[in-house]
Amino acid sequence: MKKVLVLEDESSIRSFVVINLKRSGYEPVEAETGEKALEELKKNPDIRVALLDVMLPDIDGFEVCRRIRASGSKIGIIMLTAKSQEMDKVTGLMTGADDYVTKPFSPAELTARIDALYRRTGGEEGEESVSGELVSGPFKLNTRNRTLEKNGVRIRLTQIEYSIMKLFMDNPGKALSREDILNSVWGRDYFGELKIVDVNIRRLRIKIEDDPTIPSYITTVWGFGYKWGF
Ligand code: CA
Repeated sequence: MKKVLVLEDESSIRSFVVINLKRSGYEPVEAETGEKALEELKKNPDIRVALLDVMLPDIDGFEVCRRIRASGSKIGIIMLTAKSQEMDKVTGLMTGADDYVTKPFSPAELTARIDALYRRTGGEEGEESVSGELVSGPFKLNTRNRTLEKNGVRIRLTQIEYSIMKLFMDNPGKALSREDILNSVWGRDYFGELKIVDVNIRRLRIKIEDDPTIPSYITTVWGFGYKWGF
């Protein structure tokens, strides 16, 4: 079964999400507090995607997200935010979420986001498992175990960040539009906004650049997108 954690304190919203996930073939694991969510994740290591509400009575969704990532988990994380301003907090806090959905959301939209993340975090390695590694400057991307090293030091990436790095390293020196990145990493059926690309690039820069304020590996192509090149 494809398990999805649903962390939401409001029971009406939680049931709405749960019913729709079941309809789409997922097995929801419910939690109404952050602590409960972290417990459920420990009990269910086969959960591959988590929906985290931001506003909660105990620890908030950002903190839950931060703790999940601090544990080294690479599951897909979607934040459920009440208003658009909360996304700026996600951007600012860089807690490690892969995506966000603003309330109120439609079941179709939510399911599409989960499907996309499920595919990204999934085991559909296929032909990549034979290809080995990509090397570029100080970076070595191992496509077999989906890891990145910079000067021999492992850098922890989310699955989305890994996919972006792979796209860049497959296309050195080529300007990639934000649409190219969105289509390639999130999939063509993705409903979301281009902003999610920028959020992830910003977070990736913090992880891989010598100085994220003066990026030299992932460079901005103004009014277009990004380029891997130095
Ligand atoms: Ca809430």
